[in-house]
Amino acid sequence: MPMAGCFRPMSDWFSKRIGGDGMKAIGDYIAAAYAAGRIAYQHCSGCGQNQIFARDFCVTCLRPEPEWREAGGIGRIVACTTMHRAPTSEWKARLPYAIALVDIAEGLRVMALADSNLCAGDTARLRDQPVHDLPYFEPMVKI
Ligand SMILES: [Zn+2]
Repeated sequence: MPMAGCFRPMSDWFSKRIGGDGMKAIGDYIAAAYAAGRIAYQHCSGCGQNQIFARDFCVTCLRPEPEWREAGGIGRIVACTTMHRAPTSEWKARLPYAIALVDIAEGLRVMALADSNLCAGDTARLRDQPVHDLPYFEPMVKI
């Protein structure tokens, strides 16, 4: 069933808040966070809901203008796999690399690069520096 009409077009809100225009500004904002090894998400001050897919409104209560936040960097590995085939020639030079689904402390599930020794159920944290200009989860150091 077509979903036409269910999604509002991105407004100029992002242009006012972030600069640039609409979707490009959103993409630039998220890409800048990723390139710095961080994960950006949106928080609704009305209902407290967090969302990872950027919108110009809260998908739970429809309040406009959710604020941008950065994840604290702690999460639990849901799944992790090592890639031996690359989707592009650029990524071929990086083989093998691991990708993980991570439930972060902010209640969101994200995909990121990860240490290949991580397993489902492990607690992980974002490395201070990105790897290949993307967020990278590494094992928590046990003290
Ligand atoms: Zn809300």
